[in-house]
Amino acid sequence: MTIVTGVTARVPAKLNLQLAVGPPRGDGYHDLVTVFHAVSLFDEVTVEPAGQDTVTVTGEGAGTVPRDGDNLALRAVAALRKRARGGNRTAGVRVTIAKRIPVAAGLAGGSADAAAALVACNELWTVGLTPQRLAELAAAIGSDVAFALLGGTAVGRGRGERLTPALAPATQYHWVLAFAEGQLSTPQVYAALDRLRASQEAAPPADQQPGLDAGLMSALRSGDAALLGQALSNDLQPAALSLYPALRKTLAAGLELGALGALVAGSGPTCVFLAASAERALELAVSLSGAGVCRSVARVTGPVPGAAVVPAQG
Ligand code: ATP
Repeated sequence: MTIVTGVTARVPAKLNLQLAVGPPRGDGYHDLVTVFHAVSLFDEVTVEPAGQDTVTVTGEGAGTVPRDGDNLALRAVAALRKRARGGNRTAGVRVTIAKRIPVAAGLAGGSADAAAALVACNELWTVGLTPQRLAELAAAIGSDVAFALLGGTAVGRGRGERLTPALAPATQYHWVLAFAEGQLSTPQVYAALDRLRASQEAAPPADQQPGLDAGLMSALRSGDAALLGQALSNDLQPAALSLYPALRKTLAAGLELGALGALVAGSGPTCVFLAASAERALELAVSLSGAGVCRSVARVTGPVPGAAVVPAQG
């Protein structure tokens, strides 16, 4: 008999190829229509049986991740335990997060860790929740958690948790991520968007709901990277730029260096560039680092699958 001591799950960062934001709702949230796209920048979350729940974080931005019940991975553990009602089997866990996804960078790293913790504990405790049931739990933990489970490319509605996989050919896209110094707080970026809209005559009417961009979906169906680059959009971008003006220079530099498209990732401050090929992505990454317009760069591809258990070795 094999005794399982620990389970590790790997989970990707997300980009939003479109992020259309409606007016604020009564509960303070905004209705969204977004096209999520999972890329090959992964956190790894390991869970092991322990006396009580604890979390250790290593890697990118580890010092800024909460170590208490606010950690989204710990919240996911607690949510699954409640659902599983497994007695001693679901007692405490030691959670270890190896971060490569920068924190508060618009790439939903916290949500990713929650999704990985769900998948890993589902295995460790042999709960056997189906992907559908895990997705329901995920949606209650945070807006982006359900997509981190699903991966690929998918349309998200509501707060982003109502997902429909996008039907698209198996094209692999090459992206360059330019990481910024510092972080942007998602609630502050939404508040800045509300202020910008309130101060502009061109603001959308209060009852106007966001819509899916037909041009973007058609670009995805065609698998044509140049068309996709033209169609990228993010309603949060002006708000992120108002809080972090230096990002304008980063976006402009990437476009001058030949990117097919550029945008701020989610609520920022990461900037995202689409390249025509793996070689172009490498050239772009090297030139962007040389231009001194960001803290560091990463080359990634997408789409990739969502959170999954890493097979044990040996
Ligand atoms: P959001 O997911 O809110 O759009 P984001 O993608 O910009 O935000 P995240 O990396 O998810 O950024 O971090 C947002 C906040 O979540 C952080 O400031 C941090 O305090 C909190 N957080 C909780 N758990 C985690 C975690 N496991 N990893 C990273 N951040 C976490």
